[in-house]
Amino acid sequence: MGPKLLFIDIETSPILLTSWTLRPPHASAVYVVRDTYILMASWKWSHERTVHTAALPDFPRYKRHRHDDKDLCGVLHYLLDEADIVCAHNGDAFDIKKINSRLITNGFKPPSPFKTIDTLKAARRAFKFDSNKLDNIGRYLNEGRKIPNTGAALWRGCVEDGDPKAWATMRRYCKQDTELLARVYERVKPWMPNHPNVNLYKAYQDKPGCPKCGSENTQRRGIAVKLSSKYYRFQCCDCGGWFSGMKV
Ligand SMILES: [Zn+2]
Repeated sequence: MGPKLLFIDIETSPILLTSWTLRPPHASAVYVVRDTYILMASWKWSHERTVHTAALPDFPRYKRHRHDDKDLCGVLHYLLDEADIVCAHNGDAFDIKKINSRLITNGFKPPSPFKTIDTLKAARRAFKFDSNKLDNIGRYLNEGRKIPNTGAALWRGCVEDGDPKAWATMRRYCKQDTELLARVYERVKPWMPNHPNVNLYKAYQDKPGCPKCGSENTQRRGIAVKLSSKYYRFQCCDCGGWFSGMKV
């Protein structure tokens, strides 16, 4: 058994604020009516095929408090607490921090620590794609696209109108994002030099395992020369990633 790897994507509400003018650059908030909050999340565990979703209307609280994400935050807290590694696209800068900020606002304690994999950082580090948006990476790698969303109208339908059709669309959109994220991760994984070592989460192993995918189907191929020492170099025959083993 390797680490519990969680793929996750969240959708958030826009900030509701008042302004004296719509004309930039003078448009600025006179006061904030409602801060941003989490509308829904989709997630998948790496050992499962199912993508799960939870949206505000799934909770009884929604009937009386349409903009209250406390119960949804409870689910997110549980997920982060369970996970050894959390993978999201731009997760280090957005999803995880946004979840954290809603957790503390709703009075939660921190979830147990986990490592993160950010596919946006990984893409920026290894490649020069024309665009690093998940939708475009999915297109370049033939792994699928995001479902086109109707933008402002969709968010308004969910946030202000509570329209069940808009929520259904939001759910499909968010679910597809996590499916795409998991596929893009699999493609980018062998190219990530700083992928957390999944072997450390195993009870025991016989052969040197691939640190990225855990496969023991590996081959010794040459020598890795580092700053002060040389190491035996291996390649994983499953994912294709390289790693170094014992000192020569
Ligand atoms: Zn591998």
